[in-house]
Amino acid sequence: MNQTHAAENCPTIATGEDYVEIRESVRKLCAGFPGSYWRNLEAAEAYPTEFVRALTDSGFLGALIPEEYGGSGMPLRAAAVILEEIHASGCNAGACHAQMYTMGTVLRHGSAEQKQRFLPDIASGKLRLQAFGVTEPTTGTDTTKLKTRAVRDGDSYVINGQKVWTSRALHSDLMLLLARTTPVDEVRKKSDGLSVFLIDIREAIGKGLDIKPLKAMVNHHATEVFFDNLRIPADSLIGEEGKGFKYILDGMNAERILVSSEAIGDAKWFTKTAVAYVSERRVFDRPIGQNQAVQFPIARAYAETEAADLVLRRAAARFAAGLPCGDDANMGKLLASEATWHAAEACMQSHGGFGFAKEYDVERKWRETRLFQIAPISTNLVLSYIGEHMLGMPRSF
Ligand SMILES: Cc1cc2nc3c(=O)[nH]c(=O)nc-3n(C[C@H](O)[C@H](O)[C@H](O)COP(=O)(O)OP(=O)(O)OC[C@H]3O[C@@H](n4cnc5c(N)ncnc54)[C@H](O)[C@@H]3O)c2cc1C
Repeated sequence: MNQTHAAENCPTIATGEDYVEIRESVRKLCAGFPGSYWRNLEAAEAYPTEFVRALTDSGFLGALIPEEYGGSGMPLRAAAVILEEIHASGCNAGACHAQMYTMGTVLRHGSAEQKQRFLPDIASGKLRLQAFGVTEPTTGTDTTKLKTRAVRDGDSYVINGQKVWTSRALHSDLMLLLARTTPVDEVRKKSDGLSVFLIDIREAIGKGLDIKPLKAMVNHHATEVFFDNLRIPADSLIGEEGKGFKYILDGMNAERILVSSEAIGDAKWFTKTAVAYVSERRVFDRPIGQNQAVQFPIARAYAETEAADLVLRRAAARFAAGLPCGDDANMGKLLASEATWHAAEACMQSHGGFGFAKEYDVERKWRETRLFQIAPISTNLVLSYIGEHMLGMPRSF
């Protein structure tokens, strides 16, 4: 649903450093995981097990799970602050951020039994639900055309198909899967007939489920997932059969707000790093930051970051108030992904050749932050949302 911008519907938003205590404890935790930690992991293509354990033990990954299920029941903005600070500290939450929000589909649409069965163990970190299989190799962003099929057979569903770019599937106990249960030519609307399943990877692996690592530009633990007559219990279905697309959309605004907060954190890291470097580095007998050609791109990216942050804070405030927040979540995602890229470029350029030296971490963060313009949704698709849904221009696809 689109949000309206009527004044009475606009909740108050905090500016400046909100959630100060959370910010301080995240910074403290992250100080134990310096650039060398991330560089070594990348060289070994390894998973940040110690970092994820520290975040889990501190309760940060259970921030959004209600207290009755063992989480800390914090608002979305608090979770956004946690992710922002992780990234502003030079760390990367991509290995585990989905543990925070993938459970939202179970929380909002699962049965009482499913919630009781899974949420407490997800909150404690005993169960990892951080794999989310939507994207497919042949259909890409055209989600309603996805080909993975789940066919009901007695007390089971039988799944066939393939997913691509499923992050963290090899570091997850459970996977949320979007599959087609009714063929697209038998439904009234193409978004009907898709269903969401919670798959127990531990049970399924080797019995029709195969997961292969997908090497990528960043150490994101992406995989390809293959389903070959995988039989899962019928009670793996979340909510009603055929309504899965709606459930997935529900979670996407939260995901966009949270992931964009990581982009804001990255932008802050780039700005801080660039400012420090250009103020110190002397060429032609003066700090390079004295040259406005060096200063201005950093200043411009800073202003863009502040603007993106405000839109995202409004999105989170609307989400917390139960108001439609899709417009702000999408615009915030667009603005944050571009602000961090401009900050990354300014930081890289102002480091000259040293921007390429791995020990500065600039090139690693530069590669990492490029992802936000593509995943979880690409820039063109956000622009198409704004053009069509917010501005009412003709539908393109
Ligand atoms: C590191 C990484 C991790 C990921 N993790 C996950 C995950 O955990 N789970 C998951 O399901 N997916 C994941 N993804 C997939 C990601 O969400 C998709 O890559 C992204 O949504 C784009 O889809 P696509 O790659 O199929 O691109 P395509 O749909 O093939 O699009 C390619 C380009 O064309 C543009 N384009 C396509 N159609 C149009 C149009 N009609 N108008 C204008 N432009 C158009 C797009 O904007 C894009 O720039 C991940 C991707 C990466 C790289």
